[in-house]
Amino acid sequence: PGSQLPFDETKKTVVILGSGWGSTSLLKALDTTEYNVVCQLFSLTCNPAKHLWTQVVVSPKNFFLFTPLLPSVAVGTLSPRSIIQSTRYITRHKTRGVSVIEAEAQSVDPVNKTVTVTDNSPIKGATSTKKIPYDYLVMAVGAEVQTFGIPGVQEHACFMKELADAERMQKQFMDCIETAAFPGQSEEEVQRLLHMVVVGGGPTGIELSGELHDFLEDDLKSWYPELASKIKITLVEALPSVLPMFSKQLIDYTESTFKESKIDIMTKTMVKEVKPDSVVLQMPDKSIQELPCGMVVWAGGNKGRKVTQDLMAKFPQEQTNRRGIVVDDYLRMKGADGIYAIGDCSATSYAPTAQVASQEGAYLARMLVQIAKKDQLENKLEALEIEQTKIEDDEARKRIVEEIDATRAQMAKVKLRPFHYSHQGSLAYIGSEKAIADLPFMNGNVGFFVIFWTWSEMLTRCYFA
Ligand code: FAD
Ligand code: NAD
Repeated sequence: PGSQLPFDETKKTVVILGSGWGSTSLLKALDTTEYNVVCQLFSLTCNPAKHLWTQVVVSPKNFFLFTPLLPSVAVGTLSPRSIIQSTRYITRHKTRGVSVIEAEAQSVDPVNKTVTVTDNSPIKGATSTKKIPYDYLVMAVGAEVQTFGIPGVQEHACFMKELADAERMQKQFMDCIETAAFPGQSEEEVQRLLHMVVVGGGPTGIELSGELHDFLEDDLKSWYPELASKIKITLVEALPSVLPMFSKQLIDYTESTFKESKIDIMTKTMVKEVKPDSVVLQMPDKSIQELPCGMVVWAGGNKGRKVTQDLMAKFPQEQTNRRGIVVDDYLRMKGADGIYAIGDCSATSYAPTAQVASQEGAYLARMLVQIAKKDQLENKLEALEIEQTKIEDDEARKRIVEEIDATRAQMAKVKLRPFHYSHQGSLAYIGSEKAIADLPFMNGNVGFFVIFWTWSEMLTRCYFA
């Protein structure tokens, strides 16, 4: 950090919204040393102010969250601190100082190129709203939980998206068990309190159910031997099967593992309402049933955030995909100037996963270096052309013309390559120390595996290799 160049507000500014998978990968890979070189080169030209970049990161939380291990925090197997990394820890190791602002982007003005950010944390200073100008904006705000406006979800269900969600679930889960252990509790009430309902058979719901089952087997049986056998886990999914993105063999394997683990899977069943003590279901035959339960965890999918939707609404011609920001092959927001979108807030042909977001972030870091090179050369050209008009000496003019030609040739060599996603496979933990994996092979085919391995070891290898 001692060698960091100071943040320079007169330089070109990249504003990155978010501190998740996409933006963290971008920040880590962004080579700010390149920009120093750019600065030294162009301090000799007529307009040095536009040749160096500074970066601003804006996010309502000041850390990166390793989402794959969130369900382990929810059942208390991992401590919350072990799955986060401070964004300032990442930025303080960059060559050029990066400004980190803990705030929420409220709106983007793509005409004047500004973002309005607000500090929505409990403690506010005299100033809590600010307009930040940008030259380049990276939208990496992820997505938020989709509740489809179903009554009671927001009020009574736990989510599994943020660190606070996992902490809340862990509290509620343990409270249900302790309340069931309260002396004199009726049998019916004990059964209700120990019934955990997970809504959504996507990877989040499946992994969480698996973790709940492990916790029951590994810990609760010895802590609460009289209650453990009464704990029931039900997974509710509206579609005909769970994990639609995995191959049929792995779906069948997951369903049979859940059966052995005594996790009930209810497919073709839709949650219609969540009440404080129960969940209302529409059954496959369209009849309505009410299941008493102690806790409901909602893993029903995601939708775009308000800041993303509002920005998209400013480009009604180009931004017509309800899943998120439409980008071109270079991850540039269609219709806008200087805005990029990566990760879950964008709509691409790839699944909204950490794997995609981090590859997009790393790609954008490489792109920004190329763009910086291009900008340098453009500015050099501009300066040379101005100089050319002022020179009267023929020899000197000839030298400038040669330099202009050489600069043009260099510019032609700066190629911006389109983003290419390399799929490393899909993994999901299903409990009982088993994970399922659809892995691509060199011939393009997908192989499916059941892996018996320490899940955290698996993740560590996949994400940090
Ligand atoms: P995020 O990582 O969600 O980051 C968004 C960032 O934007 C956050 O820092 C947030 O605080 C910030 N932000 C939000 N609103 C604003 C605003 N208004 N202004 C500024 N900043 C804002 N994917 C996999 O590939 N493999 C897995 O094993 C896997 N497991 C998962 C497990 C769980 C429980 C969950 C919930 C998801 C999992 N995913 C997994 C999906 C993966 O987490 C997402 O695809 C990934 O987080 C997307 O990255 P992102 O950068 O687009 O968004
Ligand atoms: P999802 O969209 O994949 O699944 C949500 C499920 O909830 C859907 O199957 C939907 O039919 C169901 N649902 C919605 N409303 C319902 C209702 N009222 N009643 C019953 N069921 C209902 O969401 P997710 O599991 O949170 O995953 C989100 C993204 O994150 C996906 O792209 C996923 O691949 C990724 N992810 C990946 C992993 C992994 O790779 N291990 C883990 C978690 C998440």
